Amino acid sequence: MRFPLDLDYEEWRTLCMEEWHEPPFRADQICGWLYERRTLSFEEMTNLSKELRRKASETFGPAVPKIEKVEVSKRDGTQKILWSLRDGESVESVLLEQDGRKTACISTQVGCPLACSFCATGQSGFVRNLSCGEIVGQFLAMEKDQGSLIDNLVFMGMGEALLNMEAFLKAVRNLKHPKMRSLGARRMTVSTAGVVPGILALAESNLGIKLAVSVHAPDDDLRDRLMPVNRRYPLSELFSAIRFYQEKTGDRVSIEYLLIDGLNDTQAQAERLASRLRGLKSFVNLIPWNTTCETFRKPSPQKVEKFRQVLLSKGIEAEVRRERGEDIDAACGQLRQRRRAR
Ligand code: SAH
Repeated sequence: MRFPLDLDYEEWRTLCMEEWHEPPFRADQICGWLYERRTLSFEEMTNLSKELRRKASETFGPAVPKIEKVEVSKRDGTQKILWSLRDGESVESVLLEQDGRKTACISTQVGCPLACSFCATGQSGFVRNLSCGEIVGQFLAMEKDQGSLIDNLVFMGMGEALLNMEAFLKAVRNLKHPKMRSLGARRMTVSTAGVVPGILALAESNLGIKLAVSVHAPDDDLRDRLMPVNRRYPLSELFSAIRFYQEKTGDRVSIEYLLIDGLNDTQAQAERLASRLRGLKSFVNLIPWNTTCETFRKPSPQKVEKFRQVLLSKGIEAEVRRERGEDIDAACGQLRQRRRAR
C-alpha cells in the first residue's frame, strides 16, 4: 500500500504520466489539494475525473495519521496531540502559540534509540522510523484541525530526526516545495542529540533549515552518563561538526541546555559551557528539567537565572525557555508513555 504524503513532486509527476497516463499538471492539482487545501481524500478532489479519483483511491491508503487524543493546557493553551499510526503505534506532536505565532513540534520516530537518561521517549526504547508522509502528515493534519496555517515547525518531538535522515530530508523538501506546502526553510528547525554524521550531512544539504543541538553537559564524563550518544560522538567532535555547519551555512546555532538540579547547573559548569561556545555564533536555550521520573529534580528559578547570568557575563546569549503545557505532560514522550501504561 502506498501513502500520498510519502511522494515527492517528481514522483507525483512520474505516477501521473507513466502509470495513470495523465498530463503532468495533474501532479500540480493533486499536490495543491493535499498541501494547500489539506483535502486528504481523493474523492473530494473535484477537478480530477471520476475515473482518476477512483484509481487514486485504490492506489493509496489514508493520507495522514489519525488523531487519537488532544489535550489542551488550561494554563497556556498548549495542545498535545497523540496520533495513532496505521500499525497501531503512536507518536505525539505539540502545538504552541506565543505572541500570535503558532509553532508545531513534531516527531520523526516511534520511540528513540538514543536512550538519554532524562527523556521519557529515550527510556521507552526504539520501535521504528516514521515515513516522510507520517512526518509531514502530523503538520498538515494539525493545520487542518486548526483551520489555519502554522507559522513554524520544529522537529523536536519524539525521536532523533538525524537518524531517520532519508524520510526527514524528504519531509523538509516536500514542505518547502513551491508546489506543495511552500513553508520557508527559515521557519523549520531540527534538534539533534548530537549525531555528528547527520549534522555534517545537513550542512552539505543546503536545505537552509535551522539547527539546534541538545548539549546538556559541558564535560564528556557527565554527558556520557546523561546521553549515551556522547560515547560515540564526544563533545570535541560534536563541536567540530557544529563549527563546520556554521562555516557552511553562516547560521547561528541554537544550543539547548537542560538544567537538572545539582547535576549540570553549577556556576563552574556554566563557565565551562561558555568556553566551549567561544567563537561560535550561538544562542543558548536553558530548559528547566520537566519532571518525568523520580531520578532528577528541577533546579530553583534562582539557580536557573544564576546559570544564565554566568553565560551572559561571558558574552553568550541565553534565555530561559518558558515552560509550556506542564499540566498536560508536554515533555517529550510523556503522553505516549501514559497511554502504554494504561
Ligand atoms: N532527539 C532530539 C529531539 C528530541 S527532544 C534531541 O535530542 O535534540 C527535544 C528536546 O527536549 C531535547 O533537547 C531533549 O533533550 C529535551 N528533553 C527531553 N526530555 C526532557 C525533559 N524531561 N525535560 C525537558 N527537556 C527534555
